[in-house]
Amino acid sequence: MFTYEDCLRFLILECAEEGRRVMNRIQFNSAPVDPIRITSKFGPRDTGIAGATTSHLGIDLGANKSLSETPVFVVKEGIINGNYWNDARGWVITITHNGFLTLYQHLKTQCPLKAGAQVKAGHRIGTMGNSSKTLVIATHLHFELHVNGMPIDPEPYLLNIVKEDLRLYYGYTNNRGY
Ligand SMILES: [Zn+2]
Repeated sequence: MFTYEDCLRFLILECAEEGRRVMNRIQFNSAPVDPIRITSKFGPRDTGIAGATTSHLGIDLGANKSLSETPVFVVKEGIINGNYWNDARGWVITITHNGFLTLYQHLKTQCPLKAGAQVKAGHRIGTMGNSSKTLVIATHLHFELHVNGMPIDPEPYLLNIVKEDLRLYYGYTNNRGY
């Protein structure tokens, strides 16, 4: 017989194991913006109203101050899933990757790529903006990472990017001999 405590322990171990599996299959190969400057983290946010918080389901990244416009890049190869306007989110792109989805919001203009288009890590999908009908906001990128339809905190992955050697795509050899 399993006790209630046994079942709880089992569930906690299962959750931790599933968490590790998720962590292991997510690896970004490009930063969405360069440099990465986090201006608002994932999770609960103070609304300014006593006792009330909202949950920030993504992470906000600030503009590159040395450029007049900040390009936005795909973090890993994938397929354009959504390319749409939303009154709060503005111009949005979503991309499916192997086992997860990324979302890029408040882009300056609509990305010309259609749903179904394949993109590589580092592919430019637009320019950082502040597009939104209902929010008055500074220019920034709101970036989300979804696993099984659930937003999770992208920060650990943004801080552990393994850049792909783009020369491999063009058939050049690198100095490691492959
Ligand atoms: Zn945000």
